[in-house]
Amino acid sequence: MNSLLVRFFLFSLVIAGCSIAVTAWLASQATTGAIRQEQGEAFETDVQIYDALVGYAASHGDWGQVRSTVDELARRYDRRVALTDQNGRKLVDTGDQNAPQLPVTPKALIDPLNVNGEIDPRAVGPFLLKDDEKRKLRSYADQLVRCNDRVEIVETPNGRPRIKGLEPGRHSVWDSCASGEYLQTVTATETAGYRELQGYFVACLATLPGNAMLPAKAPGRVDELDWDVLVVQGTTPDVVRCMDEARRDMLRTHVAPPAQLFLTARAGDSPQQIDLSTTGATRITLVALGILALAGFASWVTATQLVRPIRALTAATKRTAEGDRTARVDGGAGEIGQLAKSFNSMSEKLAETERQRQAMVSDVAHELRTPLGNITGWLEATQDGLAEPDPHLIGMLLEESLLLQRLVDDLHDLAQADAGTLRLHPEPIALDDVVDQVVNAQQNREILLRAETTPVHLSADPVRLRQALGNLVANAVRYTPPGGEVVVRLFQWQDRAILEVADTGTGIAPEDVPHVFDRFWRADKSRSRRTGGSGLGLAITRHLVEAHGGTVSVTSTLGEGSTFRISLPLA
Ligand code: ADP
Repeated sequence: MNSLLVRFFLFSLVIAGCSIAVTAWLASQATTGAIRQEQGEAFETDVQIYDALVGYAASHGDWGQVRSTVDELARRYDRRVALTDQNGRKLVDTGDQNAPQLPVTPKALIDPLNVNGEIDPRAVGPFLLKDDEKRKLRSYADQLVRCNDRVEIVETPNGRPRIKGLEPGRHSVWDSCASGEYLQTVTATETAGYRELQGYFVACLATLPGNAMLPAKAPGRVDELDWDVLVVQGTTPDVVRCMDEARRDMLRTHVAPPAQLFLTARAGDSPQQIDLSTTGATRITLVALGILALAGFASWVTATQLVRPIRALTAATKRTAEGDRTARVDGGAGEIGQLAKSFNSMSEKLAETERQRQAMVSDVAHELRTPLGNITGWLEATQDGLAEPDPHLIGMLLEESLLLQRLVDDLHDLAQADAGTLRLHPEPIALDDVVDQVVNAQQNREILLRAETTPVHLSADPVRLRQALGNLVANAVRYTPPGGEVVVRLFQWQDRAILEVADTGTGIAPEDVPHVFDRFWRADKSRSRRTGGSGLGLAITRHLVEAHGGTVSVTSTLGEGSTFRISLPLA
């Protein structure tokens, strides 16, 4: 989770996922909404066209005059409208010659005698009033309204004004108005219609067993013509069916025959175009802006989190560059954490190097001060006539300057080793010869110094090896009291040449052992330059041995003696 890569990846994934989900949701919402609206509109249009055509069929005996009605509907609703008869023969079609074929299944069947099983109320057939009858009834209705303002008049499909909300068989409203009574009078047209209906009804009743009968005389009041009144409650279902059939049979000759209605888009049956371009444009914009804001916020938070340790690192680097070696960064885990750790260790290393450099300078100054002080002191004393420049004094001064010379040589060697410019001149040598040379050069009357060698040949710089071994032998002799013994051994062990310098001297305290190879380190800090070395000998030895690809180590017991061991690769 702390990996920068994983965090970036997961973050991008989450943002992409959210965007896709919201976009998909938005798109589906917009599309569904648009389609639903379109469908609703189309359905409403279809219903209106259907209703208009049923109305036409109910009031016309055939489809002959339908053209203008259909054209008007097609224009108003922007649809192609076509009608065929039951056999599929085209009655009317608003599509031109180029229009594609009509669909296989019609949209609906136009039959005023069967609108969801019912007879369309606009199919009035022979009950349609003549104009003068209509006029007369209309004037009665107007009088009734004038006389009784609670009454509301509606016109029924056959042209007869009727009192709105009046239940069949009730007529108390017009008790005080004579015109109410006139309004209820059956017209000649209605009586004729009734007779026609009765003919069909009686014919049907004749097919039934028993003697169900329609009232023989024509009804005098129009409310007696209502179907609910005509078909008296309690008659058998057969009689009700006969009444219904009689109505249909009577009307069939007065309405247009059933026709099939086809409704398609104006340019054929291609699916209607749904325009989504402006659908919820504001909503889409708002949601898009919302996602943008959310993504921006999340990016900002994540970026801040990512950048914080980088900023800390930058600040720490700046401080380090300005010389502050205590700058440390806490970068947590992950890539940045690794970087912070690397920086911290680099900073520690720098601090350590700095400390070493300072110590080195102060050590060098300290080491130079004593011999220089001695030389200056004696020369001043001579100048002032306090000392004679006799051979003894000159010998002393020479000794001090040799000491300085050695110190400067040692420092030069170390500086070369540090800079990596310590040049080796390897050649095939017999290591036992080197040991013999060193042992002979360091012979001492107070100490038994001897060599135990086996012939070992390798490629190395003989001068530098002599210097390295010489330092070890000189130390051994120096730190071994008179009567002690120093043995230099040379042998081959596996693929390495081993040089051991073992003494029976003072030994080194266990806590000092890790420091003996450090620069300017001496176990006895008070030792003068004369009795001890500069504290650089072992450091130089280690550098020289390591330059040959070897290692140097020490084992020591305080009061018993030390053994220094150089291990060199033979190859
Ligand atoms: P120095 O010039 O002081 O000998 P070195 O680097 O050669 O400096 O040695 C560092 C210190 O290690 C010495 O001051 C001494 O305390 C200790 N040391 C080195 N060799 C021996 C030894 N053979 N026996 C005991 N102590 C030793």
